[in-house]
Amino acid sequence: MSIPAALEKFKKFLTQKGLRVTNQRLAIFDAALAQKEHFTAEQLLDYARAIDDSVSRATVYRTLPIMTESSLLREVDIGSGEKYYTPNQGGSTTQVAHVVCLDCDRIFESSAPVMEWYGSTFSSKLNLTPVSQRLQVSAHCTLFRQTGTCPRHG
Ligand SMILES: [Zn+2]
Repeated sequence: MSIPAALEKFKKFLTQKGLRVTNQRLAIFDAALAQKEHFTAEQLLDYARAIDDSVSRATVYRTLPIMTESSLLREVDIGSGEKYYTPNQGGSTTQVAHVVCLDCDRIFESSAPVMEWYGSTFSSKLNLTPVSQRLQVSAHCTLFRQTGTCPRHG
């Protein structure tokens, strides 16, 4: 989905929820969709404040669920207690495999269509209907292996 199309979707969703399209929400939208890496709510707050310094933490936390509900963002739970978000490229979430660096929590994503086959084959053998599935691999990123530390460590 293009950025203008995503923006239209976002505005429509806000209107449906009875929420106003404010500069703060637009800054959050711009900041979120510009990210290439997975980010947390706190990181998004920083990014959005760089665009509009009047963005509040509360607005970020209220806007994130709207952006995931409207499929503009995908929520990624790597079991670290903190939720990560990433712009949704439109693919099926059941076919994404995550590889997470144990040291810096950096998340690498890979399309894994074989998972869907695996999930449905395994489920049908047990006469079950698959609802969701995920594959997560813990790893050390290249920098960690080479230098013993990651740029995002700590
Ligand atoms: Zn790392």
